[in-house]
Amino acid sequence: MRTSQFLLATAKETPAEAELVSHRLMLRAGMIRKLAAGVYTLLPLGQRVVRKIANIVREEMDRIGALEVLMPMVQPAELWRESGRWESMGPELARLKDRHERDFCLGPTHEEVVTDIIRNECHSYRQLPLTLYQIQTKFRDERRPRFGVMRAREFIMKDAYSFHASQACLEATYRDMHGAYEAILKRLGLAYRAVAADSGNIGGKTSHEFHAPADSGEDEIVFSTESDYAANIELATGGVPEPDDQAEPLASIPTDTGEATSIEAVCGLLDVSAKRLVKTLIVHAADDSGAPGEELVALLLRGDQSLNETLARQLEGVGSPLRFAEAALIRERLGCAPGVLGPLRDLGIRIIADPSAAGLRNFICGANRHRHHLVNANWGRDCRFDETAHIRIVREGDRSPDGKGELTIRRGIEVGHIFQLGTKYSEAMNASVLNEQGKPTVMHMGCYGIGVTRLAAACIEQHHDDRGIIWPAAVAPFDLVIVEIDAHKSEAVARKAGALYERARQAGIETLLDDRDRKTSPGVKFAESELIGIPHRLVVSPRTLAGGGVEHTCRASGEKSTMDADAALALIAGKLTESLAGSA
Ligand code: ATP
Ligand code: MG
Repeated sequence: MRTSQFLLATAKETPAEAELVSHRLMLRAGMIRKLAAGVYTLLPLGQRVVRKIANIVREEMDRIGALEVLMPMVQPAELWRESGRWESMGPELARLKDRHERDFCLGPTHEEVVTDIIRNECHSYRQLPLTLYQIQTKFRDERRPRFGVMRAREFIMKDAYSFHASQACLEATYRDMHGAYEAILKRLGLAYRAVAADSGNIGGKTSHEFHAPADSGEDEIVFSTESDYAANIELATGGVPEPDDQAEPLASIPTDTGEATSIEAVCGLLDVSAKRLVKTLIVHAADDSGAPGEELVALLLRGDQSLNETLARQLEGVGSPLRFAEAALIRERLGCAPGVLGPLRDLGIRIIADPSAAGLRNFICGANRHRHHLVNANWGRDCRFDETAHIRIVREGDRSPDGKGELTIRRGIEVGHIFQLGTKYSEAMNASVLNEQGKPTVMHMGCYGIGVTRLAAACIEQHHDDRGIIWPAAVAPFDLVIVEIDAHKSEAVARKAGALYERARQAGIETLLDDRDRKTSPGVKFAESELIGIPHRLVVSPRTLAGGGVEHTCRASGEKSTMDADAALALIAGKLTESLAGSA
């Protein structure tokens, strides 16, 4: 490709709205342009990168036997009513009506559509297992679209769905997918971690997220220093905290704490650390369907800890989504204000304590009395809990739940997410096959997503410097840029650059020839080649020709050397093979 015929839409200015380096560089390098909030055009340079990522994803899906399909983006509401998600999805699901007033939505994901296909096409266990995938545009009306294609409303995802006659078979495909995701991320040159994850509104129990560690990541991921424990912070649990150093139980003292109701105020007044307090939160218990019902449940944490709402709503008997009780309801049912609540023995509701609170002695908690707290409260004598459960957000330095090492926390970009859905959709949508005994059996399902456009952004977050993008070889929009200088003055330069371009192309090296005329200065050509991050650059100028050839620069290391054209092409071809093999 010749730059003079390419849409190289680079920009010098850093766009004000772009907070993330990947967003800034994608705009400045001319990869994307915004059409509306969270809706982007992929310009030629961006599309070349996305196509490479999509091809790697496709190759790895094909390798594990998944079959490519293309499902419609527009989906009828009936299917979503069958699964129950038409009601439960909320405003992220973009809904529309056709001219006959029939309801449709823009697909944010395709569990319903694919389950409908399979229940119509598959009737016997002999047709299973089966994995279908597609690389397709999704639409989610995100509350806060931002960071360019990292959190867009319209974006490209690879989504795959597997169908099985048994849970064991699902688990085998899940392992294959896990391996395929690792292969994809390695080939893309991304550092990554797979972590245990919450399955959110998609459903199912076992799920893993693949994260590209980056300071700009929106998620926090937790690892053990000494074992392979790794989880999203939403799901991470810590070991039991060190035992309380308080010795014998002291006599409890009901204490007038006046207007002090917050943890800070009570600590300030009594001059103690928040670690000595027990904090009592009241939420709604689950009704028969699992949703928040009439009954209340108390959740206890140490004063310095925060509630992990994902873990709390997963507790048996706690309503999901988590709903905190209103102050008026607490007054009516429990007889005091939320700020003076405590887990006293006579608090007439179920009480669940985090181990951090359950391990305390001589602690301070609300006395369930206007203006009062109980000092030197102890379990059994003054207070009670019915059970313990890990419901706090873990912190750096907490013990790992497997007892090996301490937890560390890093930020990550979620690039992929795989789920064992079990029978959630197949049951709701009546998707079954006849088993070996000829009896109908509900299919087991898995689903597996990877963000193709988000991967492009994640690559840039991990590979850039202050001059621009540094593409890993496998996803670079071009392998090589040839910059010709003063070709309008020197016939030799024009000829040499043209010949080099032809030879590089014949050698299978994807090449951009910067043949722009003298209106574009050498400085601009150099800066732009670095901004768009092409791995190799060859400069042809009167000076390099006088020096015996062309000047090669490696974008990643900055190393420069002058050599003859043959040597340069051999070097580049060799390095490309090496880096593609290294990341494969
Ligand atoms: P997030 O927590 O970031 O919203 P999610 O859990 O909603 O992600 P999934 O439903 O598991 O995401 O989608 C699979 C993959 O699609 C994600 O791992 C991510 O790479 C990509 N993805 C999801 N939402 C977006 C978005 N708004 N913009 C770009 N990519 C996205
Ligand atoms: Mg989401």
